Amino acid sequence: MSARENLEKVRAAIAAAETETDRKSGSVRLVAVSKTKPPEEISPVIEAGQRVFGENRVQEAQSKWPGLKGETTGIELHLIGPLQSNKTAEAVALFDVIQTVDREKIAREIARETKKQDKHPILYVQVNTGSEPQKAGIEPDEADAFIAMCRVELGLKISGLMCIPPVEENPGPHFALLAKIARENHIETLSMGMSDDFETAIAFGATEVRVGSAIFGAR
Ligand SMILES: *Cc1c(COP(=O)(O)O)cnc(C)c1O
Repeated sequence: MSARENLEKVRAAIAAAETETDRKSGSVRLVAVSKTKPPEEISPVIEAGQRVFGENRVQEAQSKWPGLKGETTGIELHLIGPLQSNKTAEAVALFDVIQTVDREKIAREIARETKKQDKHPILYVQVNTGSEPQKAGIEPDEADAFIAMCRVELGLKISGLMCIPPVEENPGPHFALLAKIARENHIETLSMGMSDDFETAIAFGATEVRVGSAIFGAR
């Protein structure tokens, strides 16, 4: 099936999940994850009306998106992969949303760059809900203090939280934990749910789902 047809299916599934779980129609945004896919596979999805995209590497996004953004207005680009501090300047310049703020060093770099460039991407904090050693994200029990530090000390506006549950676990409790941390910190945007579990994430309050392979096919 073409990416265009897949996109329609995913949109329909999101709409159905909204209805089934008494969420307002249109309250869940779709971030189409285009990592590893070349521009010629992304263009048809843009032509089908999708405007919000996610990439996990700064360098790859730099090579693909300035061209694609030049062809269409209204593209919103999200960084969903770990950010290295030596890539912060490029990330602040290119991305509209950085979903992966997860440690003090990166938060400080972002604060510096946003002032320097006078460019202010929307920021989410990534939470390592499963406390997996190999995974990025702030530990759940450090999230409140980290969010407060970003806001009070660095003057950053934190408007969302993001998580990637452990692959082998039932994702529900992880989505519930992220929603709880969001409520406690007055954060409205919840970026959770991928191709295999976005409907579950919507049931737990996701306001954004990040869907790659269900649209673009296997990587
Ligand atoms: C790759 C990726 C996705 C999309 O995963 P699929 O299973 O292909 O939908 C979502 N979020 C993050 C952070 C990713 O790296």
